[in-house]
Amino acid sequence: MKVIVIGSGIVGASAAYHLAKRNIDVIVIDKEHQGNATAAGAGIVCPWASSKAEDEKWYEMAKRGAAFYPELISQLQEDGEQNVGYKKVGALCVRSNPEELDQIEHKIRDKKKKAPEIGDITRLDSTQSRERFPLLNERLESIFISGGARVDGKQLRDAINRAAQKHGAVFVQGEAELLVKKEQLTGASVNGQEFSADSVLIAAGAWAPSLLKPLGLECKLEPQRGQIAHIKLQDEDTSNWPIILPPTSHYMLAFDDSRVVAGATRETGSGFDYRLTAGGVSEVVNEALEVAPGLGEGTLQEVRIGFRPMGVDQSPLLGTVQPFRNMVMANGLGASGLTMGPYVGCLAASLITGENMEIDISPYEPMRAVKIK
Ligand code: FAD
Repeated sequence: MKVIVIGSGIVGASAAYHLAKRNIDVIVIDKEHQGNATAAGAGIVCPWASSKAEDEKWYEMAKRGAAFYPELISQLQEDGEQNVGYKKVGALCVRSNPEELDQIEHKIRDKKKKAPEIGDITRLDSTQSRERFPLLNERLESIFISGGARVDGKQLRDAINRAAQKHGAVFVQGEAELLVKKEQLTGASVNGQEFSADSVLIAAGAWAPSLLKPLGLECKLEPQRGQIAHIKLQDEDTSNWPIILPPTSHYMLAFDDSRVVAGATRETGSGFDYRLTAGGVSEVVNEALEVAPGLGEGTLQEVRIGFRPMGVDQSPLLGTVQPFRNMVMANGLGASGLTMGPYVGCLAASLITGENMEIDISPYEPMRAVKIK
């Protein structure tokens, strides 16, 4: 069997890896568009405390996505990949109002009954919270969730791609166009070179609509710009600092190299406007300083831009794209793609090879976002 994977963000990378491990012939075509989401996204994996956790469809995939990580990481280690950019450092849900924390604690304890991977849940006062994340605002108390993890999207994607290559996946750089002959999807072309395949996986992130349009398929998926700041600290060992989850989307996480990442704007309607805006940068920096005033002395090292693939709702688009029996889509992971992406990619690989699916994927039917014209 021969499969073409179009797009090598976290979703396509994972699918290609799991296909290659099954000895399938895989060709991965990727243009690495400016603003691809995986390279910008860094990287909270802690779905249990999310405001979206009340949405069952979203939660099911996000919960499974988070639980899938340890298995993926050990597979990658077996393939010789040590620098995978993933670490379970725990998460601090921070609030100034203790009653809000009571409610959150109650919900997370309830969720733990079916998700033991949540780990320990510990209530911390302001001083104890600052022992875990020293730059935190003194007004904030927290709940510590030991199962929370952080991931560097680019580092993980690169590790998965290297491992996929070890299992025989072939990588082609460039922009793919789909090939249809006698109404059958036969493969894809890149710069005039044609590649045939039995199945094609559309893992093209926010760029999927332009890939599908020539085939008369209108895909309702939009880019949502995110600007995310990387702040370098001097002589701080940040390697074990937990993720910080405030009530807004302005989370924070640290990496091993004395770096704190403060995310992120959510700019619906941005199109593919690859620009740092004064308003966007000011929003992420100001929100970060509100939560952790101690960051003020840090160096603003970099602000990254990424386009989240936003579908018709917050849940992924996963399944076969009609009228083609051999076109599969794995997309629309929006703001949660680093949490769900590796798992969704693995499910896409099972779908393509016709294996029994671990979960019922019918709620994620991609045709809810695709119209045949
Ligand atoms: P992408 O990573 O965008 O990859 C798509 C790939 O397809 C690209 O490389 C592109 O070049 C390629 N492509 C497209 N069309 C073609 C074509 N025709 N030919 C060849 N190649 C093509 N998620 C979390 O879970 N937690 C977080 O904390 C988090 N933070 C984020 C912060 C920011 C600022 C952003 C932008 C996103 C964040 N996300 C987070 C979301 C997550 O990053 C995305 O949902 C995820 O990376 C999407 O992965 P993808 O593989 O679908 O798309």
